[in-house]
Amino acid sequence: MDTLVSLSKRRGFIFQSSEIYGGTGSCWDYGPLGVELKQNIKRIWWRDYIQQRPDMVGLDASILMHPTVWKASGHVDNFTDPMVDCLECRRRFRADKVDETPWVHYCAATKGNKFTIPAGEPCSHCGERRTLCPDCGKGSLTAPRQFNLMFKTFMGPVEEDASLTYLRPETAQGIFVNFDNVAQSMRRKLPFGIGQIGKAFRNEITPGNFIFRTREFEQMEIEYFVNPRDTVEGKPADEYWHERWIADSLAWFQRYGLREENLRLREHEKDELAHYAKRTADVEYHFPIGWSELMGIANRTDFDLKQHAQFSGKALTYFDEERKEHVVPYVIEPSAGVDRALLAFLADAYQEEEVRGEKRVVLRFHPELAPVKVAVLPLLKKRDDGVRTAHAIRDTLAKHWTVVYDDTAAIGRLYRRQDEVGTPYCVTVDVQTVGDSDKGESADGKVTIRDRDSMEQARVPIDTLPAVFLDLLSGGSWSAVAPRFR
Ligand code: ATP
Repeated sequence: MDTLVSLSKRRGFIFQSSEIYGGTGSCWDYGPLGVELKQNIKRIWWRDYIQQRPDMVGLDASILMHPTVWKASGHVDNFTDPMVDCLECRRRFRADKVDETPWVHYCAATKGNKFTIPAGEPCSHCGERRTLCPDCGKGSLTAPRQFNLMFKTFMGPVEEDASLTYLRPETAQGIFVNFDNVAQSMRRKLPFGIGQIGKAFRNEITPGNFIFRTREFEQMEIEYFVNPRDTVEGKPADEYWHERWIADSLAWFQRYGLREENLRLREHEKDELAHYAKRTADVEYHFPIGWSELMGIANRTDFDLKQHAQFSGKALTYFDEERKEHVVPYVIEPSAGVDRALLAFLADAYQEEEVRGEKRVVLRFHPELAPVKVAVLPLLKKRDDGVRTAHAIRDTLAKHWTVVYDDTAAIGRLYRRQDEVGTPYCVTVDVQTVGDSDKGESADGKVTIRDRDSMEQARVPIDTLPAVFLDLLSGGSWSAVAPRFR
């Protein structure tokens, strides 16, 4: 994780929020390359799930909502985590996560020597397990008490209870309260889904592990409404669609580069299930901190629509033409964090390898995710015609993709820089491209494309570059495209 944090800062992916003031530790800012990567994740998610599917539509609901939304949803009463405090150093921990970090121990069996012991393990000298504060190793922890994770704020100029509301802790409720608006305006028939990408806020007791757990983050959520009376392939429709969404979600992350062995499904146990959920499965990823939740896929039944109908007094039902009756749809909720997805893609792409005796750091991003698609590099930065040609190529390609020009180092170092940020292709302009009149050599009008993963090169006419990159960046492989130019 430290390697990823340091690469992210050094290469302009992610900075600590308000760093010059000492940082907040619980919020992060996406730099020039990070914002490209994040936009790419959101773009392909929106394209694959909203744009391409006939059964899906999008929404962009507001962050601040009517306060009763959060009473109806159960968040005011139940969106809590159990918190414990250290009586000595006053640090706070989530009671259910307190054994997931290494703990400090002053070991009586070794004259009180201080050890830091791996999470969940006993001391190898005295055999004791953690009972005190894991951070200072001295104070007792209080009994757990419930702490509500919603950020409070006031709507309007008067800070009084009547104007109290919350920053949304999930995007989902914006979808539920708009169920009828969307169904009516878009003339939707069940099953159909509404997807949304947006910020969510949780006053997490123990944020940390880089962008894994923050207090401000982004979610990509879908609420997929089904008719619980229907059956599909012999199963109740909600169970069928739940299975489908689980399979689709796992396949989606693999399609964009997460390795199969780093993904697994974890079913929620009966005692862990939210009271409204019929079944929940988490997609877990093998993060640098261990196996942890990347997204959750819940069958929330008709709980949310019924709650909002009850609290608002508005019917949130669907008229089943076939059966001539009103039903409250069941909902399947695939809910993913944009930031956690970004961390997983970054961790999976990161590789160190040895090339001709030197260490090469390379981010093997899927081309659709790579923040920069092409880097144009002039070999001879003193030749005006070469530099002009390189700029012209960048300008042409930049109409379609994020493309950079760089001439601030020698070519070996420029390649290494691009490898380290995951740029799939580099284009070099050399003396043959523009010719050498002193030696009587004419320009060949070709440039060299270098492939990030194989480090192979191919020489390609400049005027074919847009077509070649269209091929390479929209599914075509280097091994299929490069031989055309040999
Ligand atoms: P956790 O158990 O890790 O707190 P959760 O089960 O509360 O997560 P959900 O409410 O299911 O999370 O939210 C859906 C998704 O939103 C999560 O799978 C995760 O990707 C993302 N997410 C939730 N909380 C955070 C957070 N504090 N920081 C970053 N992403 C988050």
